[in-house]
Amino acid sequence: MSAVAAQPEAEAPPERFPPRSVHYCEICTFPYEYCEYGSSLTKCKANLESRDPVLFSSLYSEEAITDKLKSLTTEQAESLERESAKRERKAEAKAEKERAQLASSKVILSRVARTKRKVITCITGLHLFSPPLPALKVIAKGLSSRFATGASVSQSIQNPGVDEIHIQGDVLDEVKKMLLQRAKPFEKMPSVEDGGLLEKNIVIDEKAK
Ligand SMILES: [Zn+2]
Repeated sequence: MSAVAAQPEAEAPPERFPPRSVHYCEICTFPYEYCEYGSSLTKCKANLESRDPVLFSSLYSEEAITDKLKSLTTEQAESLERESAKRERKAEAKAEKERAQLASSKVILSRVARTKRKVITCITGLHLFSPPLPALKVIAKGLSSRFATGASVSQSIQNPGVDEIHIQGDVLDEVKKMLLQRAKPFEKMPSVEDGGLLEKNIVIDEKAK
């Protein structure tokens, strides 16, 4: 029996289609019946088995699989399985690559002397860890109130197209501490477990522009 069975016809108003209850997989977002066409079948199966053992066995029990294979040639069945495993390996490799990329990303903190007395602190590279605008604007605003000074988002001079945060005054050491502690306004930065920045990801660039 399938879990996506239609409602009894007698209850549905004749002019409308009866509501169909399709359940979507929390892992791959396809209807459960189509998980094998996604790239996470192993995770999908484990998830469904713990959420809905009945539906799980209707889809993946030996009996269900035997029934399904009856409609396919051996060759078709094998290629379906191969394709599914291949997609899964590809998705895992991609996730691994993204984790490695995040781990080698750098945030650059620099002190820039604008005039003899005026210094600004620049934060570059945050976009590698959290989404760029408007999040950078929100962070700049938070820094502005935290240090009671001006803070803004500007295009980087060295890296055109990259936005950086400029804070009036020398607050570099404080900013570094706040970044490592995910202190407000950096509380949305990914945690270390999610590949977020560690001390080694922070570069202090002391040369003035
Ligand atoms: Zn799924």
